Amino acid sequence: MSKQIVIIGGGATAVSAFAHLAGSSGVERVTFVAPGPIGLGTAFGTTDPALLCNTSVDVTALKADGRSDFLDYLASRGHPVHRADFAPRYLVGQYCRERFWQYSDTARRAGTRVTHIRDRAVAIDRHTDTDTDGTAYRVALAGGGSVTGTDILFCAGADNPVLPPELRPYAGHPRLMATPYPSHKLRALPADARVLVLGTKLSAIDAAVTLCRTGNRRTVMTSPSGMLPAVRNRLVRPATPRLRQDVWAALAASGTPEGPADDTALDRTVARELLSAIRAGAPGARVARPRLSGRPAPLLREERHRAAAGRIPWEDVMAELIDTVNAQVSRWRADVRARVLPRYRALMTRYISAFPLRNATLLDGWLTEGRLRVAPRYPERMEPSGTGWSVRWPDGTTETFDHIVCASGYRVAPLTTTATGVRIGGEAADGAAGGAGDAGPRPEILETLRIRLRPDGPAERIWALGAGAGSRFPIVNYLRAAAQHAAVVADQLGQYSPGTTEPLAERTAL
Ligand SMILES: Cc1cc2nc3c(=O)[nH]c(=O)nc-3n(C[C@H](O)[C@H](O)[C@H](O)COP(=O)(O)OP(=O)(O)OC[C@H]3O[C@@H](n4cnc5c(N)ncnc54)[C@H](O)[C@@H]3O)c2cc1C
Repeated sequence: MSKQIVIIGGGATAVSAFAHLAGSSGVERVTFVAPGPIGLGTAFGTTDPALLCNTSVDVTALKADGRSDFLDYLASRGHPVHRADFAPRYLVGQYCRERFWQYSDTARRAGTRVTHIRDRAVAIDRHTDTDTDGTAYRVALAGGGSVTGTDILFCAGADNPVLPPELRPYAGHPRLMATPYPSHKLRALPADARVLVLGTKLSAIDAAVTLCRTGNRRTVMTSPSGMLPAVRNRLVRPATPRLRQDVWAALAASGTPEGPADDTALDRTVARELLSAIRAGAPGARVARPRLSGRPAPLLREERHRAAAGRIPWEDVMAELIDTVNAQVSRWRADVRARVLPRYRALMTRYISAFPLRNATLLDGWLTEGRLRVAPRYPERMEPSGTGWSVRWPDGTTETFDHIVCASGYRVAPLTTTATGVRIGGEAADGAAGGAGDAGPRPEILETLRIRLRPDGPAERIWALGAGAGSRFPIVNYLRAAAQHAAVVADQLGQYSPGTTEPLAERTAL
């Protein structure tokens, strides 16, 4: 029996999965289930050339190994490009879309039928295929239909905007935007609008770039941390690895069932290894302590100047660090991950998700001109007032805004376990958790990226890639991580024929 693969999702992760499968023998069909065009997901589906990647061309490719395919794509179309560049995100969307068509041709030449159902998947259920007596899955669609497959790749990303709890009562308010995308909605706001952006991370920076670039708007960014990401010049793979994999693997071993990690020893080892890796690339450089607090505007200026002077000694360790953390931490016991990772969350958010110097320079300019402000605190209260919003700050002052834009992150449509499979999503219409489908046990994502419905159950032939694997892998909002997942899944799919009993050697090796 040949494979019938259903890929749920149509963003970069879905195309990366396809890139790794197209042309394989024994694949009867690949069916994409996604409401929009394949290749254009949340981050890369933008058409705004001002919105940049925060990852360099080198690590923003559909295949993780070898020379960057995105670099080749851009160069072959005449873009003057270096592997360290931060490309506009719309170019990643075009790249994914074009590669999708090319891989479709490759697949068809190998005898695979490629189709796209424009719908959302709402559930996956295991059933016995009466033709073959083998296990198959039925993917239920929001429109009422269904499609079956022998293997299901869940690549649905994180495309549900998170509305902060304090604003949920006002969901649907005409002057409340649940997300800064598509950016033309922000550009359409009056040129003198006063806008509060909830968030200080990458999508909030996109919002500030869009709002401040034109007109004379007054924009204020605010978040509970009040911190902007650190500034970097590049995120590229190192020519020579600097992290000692044996040491990091030993950290992983401390999280296996043999014994819980010793947190102090772990922290010490992590700090020592990172420092030595950073110093190896920047001999003699002063390596400053990570900055996780402080006034955001002066810190941005300082970091911007350091970056412009090429004095960011940690930046060339980051790509390797992300790969290492994903590879090693995914092997830890769930309780160890849950205990250790929150301690590193602020550090990872600020440095792993650092942002490009070009955007830092823009923000610094607008901060200096007074068109942009980063509030030191998060509002105590936000409520509609007149045609806009009244916002009360912790120092007791009140400020009015014409619009509030939420850039408070995205969440994965949660998978919840049912008797025979999983239900997908189900949050309330306002984007809040707690809707009908949001309750219930979660399936486990195994190191192989397969899901298991119950601790004593078998691994299903359902794989979670990209953001969907975030309960196992610490850093998933990164195309390179999704491409690594895709390689692991394709490798497993290549090892067996559906309808047979479980033959999978559990390859993980990210
Ligand atoms: C503002 C922003 C900037 C980013 N910048 C970068 C960057 O510079 N570099 C980088 O590597 N990463 C970046 N990321 C992370 C980036 O999103 C991931 O790297 C990756 O592109 C995600 O792709 P995806 O296909 O997993 O998800 P998405 O792009 O979110 O696509 C999800 C797809 O699944 C579909 N879908 C969702 N639910 C269902 C369902 N139930 N049924 C069927 N289809 C469904 C959606 O319609 C969409 O087609 C950024 C993220 C954001 C939000």
